[in-house]
Amino acid sequence: MKKESKIGDQRNALLDDLGKYEEVISNFLWAVMLFLITADTLTGYVIGHMPFKWNAFFVQLAVFVFVITISIYRMLKLRKEQLGPGFEYTLLKIFDIVFVVILLSTMNYGHYFYFIVLLPIISICVTRGFSTSLPYLFIGFAVQASLFFLSKNIPGVLGEYEANGYNPAFFILIVSVYIASMLFLRLLGVFYKQFRQSEQDNQNLVAQLGRKYAQLEQARIEKQEQFEKLKEINIQLEDTNKKLTSSLAEFFTLQQISQAISSIFDMNELLQFVNDVIIGVMGVSTSNIALYGNNGERLKVQVSNIRNKRDLAILTDNINSPALKDAIEEGRTIINNAVNPDEFDFTRGRNVKSFLCAPLKVKDKTHGLVLIEHSIPDAFDDDNVRLLEIITQQVSIAIDNASLYEQLQEYANTDGLTQVYNRIYFQKRLKEELERAEEKGYEVSVILYDIDDFKMFNDSYGHLFGDVILKSIAQTVKESVRKDDVVARFGGEEFIILLSHTGTEKAYEKAEELRKQIASLTIEDNNVTASVTVSMGISTFPALADTDASLISSADRALYEAKRSGKNCVRIASCSRSK
Ligand code: GH3
Ligand code: MG
Ligand code: MG
Repeated sequence: MKKESKIGDQRNALLDDLGKYEEVISNFLWAVMLFLITADTLTGYVIGHMPFKWNAFFVQLAVFVFVITISIYRMLKLRKEQLGPGFEYTLLKIFDIVFVVILLSTMNYGHYFYFIVLLPIISICVTRGFSTSLPYLFIGFAVQASLFFLSKNIPGVLGEYEANGYNPAFFILIVSVYIASMLFLRLLGVFYKQFRQSEQDNQNLVAQLGRKYAQLEQARIEKQEQFEKLKEINIQLEDTNKKLTSSLAEFFTLQQISQAISSIFDMNELLQFVNDVIIGVMGVSTSNIALYGNNGERLKVQVSNIRNKRDLAILTDNINSPALKDAIEEGRTIINNAVNPDEFDFTRGRNVKSFLCAPLKVKDKTHGLVLIEHSIPDAFDDDNVRLLEIITQQVSIAIDNASLYEQLQEYANTDGLTQVYNRIYFQKRLKEELERAEEKGYEVSVILYDIDDFKMFNDSYGHLFGDVILKSIAQTVKESVRKDDVVARFGGEEFIILLSHTGTEKAYEKAEELRKQIASLTIEDNNVTASVTVSMGISTFPALADTDASLISSADRALYEAKRSGKNCVRIASCSRSK
């Protein structure tokens, strides 16, 4: 297929050459021939007054018509692109040469025009190479020589041979012309061959360069394609890497949070940590955590990184906005990436364009919410939602655990019967309080009191009624002291009160007040009514005692003193300081 088209290409190139030169040379040749015939006739018959040779005229006419016919036939074939460098072409060329020679031979002065024979040969040279054309020159010579020797047998046709007879000089002239032509052609052939060779070399070089260029171009395209593929793979890798990095970051974040949950016992500290982690991981402007207070109805902002007081006030005042509360009660996460700050109470007047709010919820219990905000719109995507939900789940469990722990702690510190603190908790609190008092330099007093003749109440009305008395006295005292005062059951029917920032005088006033209050109590249970009194002993740190043990023992002595003094009274300890 490829070979065929190559041959076809060569043929087309040759046809182009043939067409180009053949037409020009043929037209030129026959125009020259016509001119020569006319010139020869005019010179011979008009100027030279020679007799008109009818034989020669008919031969010239016949040859001319024949040659013109062949020429037209050849032109048509060339135009139709039907003539190639084959047998037909060669034959036609030979006709050209033979008939030009014959025509010239019939002229009176034809021997002067022998070079005309070269015209058709030159056309062959140009199209088929000089060396190839040499045989044609031989043919020309052969015809010429034949005619020379035939001249005496064709009387009245041939021109110069008849006129000059068998002149050997003519023959030598003809031979010389041909030899010179052959040498010239041969020489041209060599040059032309060299020229063609270098042209061919150049063409080969150009073709080679072209092939190399095509190869390079192909390689470049392949490289480009490879590069594109690599780029695509790189993008995919980058994407995967991004996903992995964010998964890793998520994993790390969650690990940090779960570690914090197991190591940070203080709830506020834990929430502060989680809030900081959220800000760090999500790159948000603000993050806030709000929890329900003890009453369980209103949310209170526990931690926030908002530093602007006005903005913080707007948020804390409006954190119970129904927009947030309704969603978290239903356990829904709210994502809003196109916030109009005026739309919500908690964003009004603040630079918030996006927010994400997730509930802190475990089973049916809602502890509060995490609200993260950004000053740019479209700040949050599904990944942020997912991560925040995982974080809030963990934190919710931590809050749940903490409140359970708090409850358990409460149980451990509380006296089951009277619901005031127990002795162990009291002693712990007393120790802490005295350390603080010593450091800060304030006074701490204790009131130790014991129910008077309690055994008798037990004996008279039964143990259960005794319990009622204990409960009702504990309750009365609890309700009468300050929120920070610690009331504890110290022994069977002995109680103790820790009064922070209180000197002896104030403690005595309070003790008196309580003693009277208790004495005025009417305790009722199952139609049994009773009134009890208590005896009280007071001691004060650091004025009367300088350690927790001496504070209690001195108060106990004062209580004993009160019992000895007839009960239902208050006594102050005497100083028992070691220094
Ligand atoms: P005093 O005025 O000297 O304190 O006389 P008292 O009867 O209160 O004397 P005592 O301290 O000896 O008696 C304490 C009694 O309190 C003894 C004990 O049975 C009773 N008691 C201790 N704990 C409880 C309790 O939890 N419930 C009841 N009902 N009685 C208790
Ligand atoms: Mg007693
Ligand atoms: Mg007692």
